[in-house]
Amino acid sequence: MSTDTINNPDRKLDDLAQIIAAYNQVTEKLRHSHDALHDEVARLREQLAGANAQLERSRRLAALGEMAAGIAHEIRNPLAAIHLYTRLISDDLTLASPNTQAATDNAGKIADAVRSLNAIVTDVLHFAREMLPRRRTVSASDLIERAVCAHRPAIEQAQVAVSMQVDDDLLLEVDGDLVQQALLNLIRNAVDAMCESQTRRKLTIKAVRRGREVVIAVADTGPGIAPEHAERLFNPFFTTRNTGTGLGLAIVHRILDAHGAAISVRNQRGAVFTLTFPADCCVFESAGAIA
Ligand code: ADP
Repeated sequence: MSTDTINNPDRKLDDLAQIIAAYNQVTEKLRHSHDALHDEVARLREQLAGANAQLERSRRLAALGEMAAGIAHEIRNPLAAIHLYTRLISDDLTLASPNTQAATDNAGKIADAVRSLNAIVTDVLHFAREMLPRRRTVSASDLIERAVCAHRPAIEQAQVAVSMQVDDDLLLEVDGDLVQQALLNLIRNAVDAMCESQTRRKLTIKAVRRGREVVIAVADTGPGIAPEHAERLFNPFFTTRNTGTGLGLAIVHRILDAHGAAISVRNQRGAVFTLTFPADCCVFESAGAIA
């Protein structure tokens, strides 16, 4: 401050007024830029929300398109079979002496194709249904036994030895029907896989308590998972089988997701699918945890 200002109080006030005016001007400018920035952020947020909604719509449409293409692909083979065998039957019926044996065989093939269409529709409905688990307390060993029992004829036909190793009194708080369905799909896949290989066929199902979680592992002695398939295994319609729909594991994944449970797969002799049920799916009566 100059000596002139120190000695002159009016000058001092003028200077102060100028400083305050400058300060007010800067504050006003800052307020304006703040408001402008605020509006810009709101506009960008709105733009981002719009872009996200658009992306979500595109994703859903893409998934729907993939699903429609998958279903169309799956039903084409049995439809082609029905078309072929009905034509053969009707050609046969125009003959003076129709070959009834051939007609019966062809009718059987039509029935097979219809069964296969029915299986596709059932799988699609299972996959598409809303997964709202109705949780109840169920015993893990009951679930596993019921799933094995549901596939018993195929297990026996394929001469698969079954070993169940389930911790005593292991209780789950889950939708029993859904989890049983998931186990059945894994068992069906394990048996199908073992039919592809000549090794001794053994299905091992273990259920153990691990800390506050329950872990169920379904292991087979088949060829295991090819590394190039591992990424796509749970994708709807991914299949390497002539008669598969590729929905089995996608259904298993959805069922586990609906319970907040996880599924993983690794190779050990054959394939091992491991289901991990979190603490809120488990009922432990005693406090002692198992490491
Ligand atoms: P699908 O059984 O109709 O083919 P899935 O979704 O159940 O459909 O299985 C997808 C694919 O995953 C199968 O085609 C097969 O290649 C592979 N896979 C599933 N389970 C096993 C298993 N236990 N061992 C080897 N490969 C398996």
